[in-house]
Amino acid sequence: MSNEGKKRGRLIIISGPSGSGKSTICRRLLEDGRFKWSVSATTRRPRPGEVDGREYHFLPREEFQEGTKRGDFIEYAEVSGNLYGTPKARLLKELAKGNVLIAEVDVQGGMNLMRAFPQAISIFVEPPGLDTSILAERLRKRGQDDEKTIRERLALAPQEMEARSRYGFRVTNDTLKRAVAEIKDIIEQQLKRDKRTSEVLGG
Ligand code: 5GP
Repeated sequence: MSNEGKKRGRLIIISGPSGSGKSTICRRLLEDGRFKWSVSATTRRPRPGEVDGREYHFLPREEFQEGTKRGDFIEYAEVSGNLYGTPKARLLKELAKGNVLIAEVDVQGGMNLMRAFPQAISIFVEPPGLDTSILAERLRKRGQDDEKTIRERLALAPQEMEARSRYGFRVTNDTLKRAVAEIKDIIEQQLKRDKRTSEVLGG
């Protein structure tokens, strides 16, 4: 993606351990319509309330694997036994249109997207502490995963936290409102900087 610098759009990468509240943060960020959502594909089954094509494109594993062979994904990774991938065509189209696109991905996806889009704004959402009982409580409250899945997701948390230093920004999700405001502020500052740079360069 060496020509990304020529495009006016911007990719926002958001990662964080399960239970950090990153999905809720992303939903809030999308509310005012300024940002677009990068709809990933996944082989996991929809949770109650999730709509195909809105939260994810829910694909059978075979179809997903065919997509990987065709090169449909900019990156993909296996997380807790399911495949997740960022579809390439729409992402490139939205960036070319100058849109700001949010991709919520695991840390493997985060690293790959940073490599493909060095200009991306990468944000790691941290829970207030790595106390697994708090993370577990959040996941249980959400009521969307069974106990086995919750345990698997929690086991990944230390690994995910280790990657946080690779992100451009780290935001602690102590309260939702504050974390959302901080992220909006980060994005705004970075976009302003882009604008100033392109003015200086005459772009
Ligand atoms: P969930 O099943 O809870 O929606 O997501 C599980 C994990 O997969 C989360 O860490 C989420 O950020 C990650 N994920 C979602 N979409 C993608 C994607 O397109 N690529 C990668 N690498 N991870 C993803």
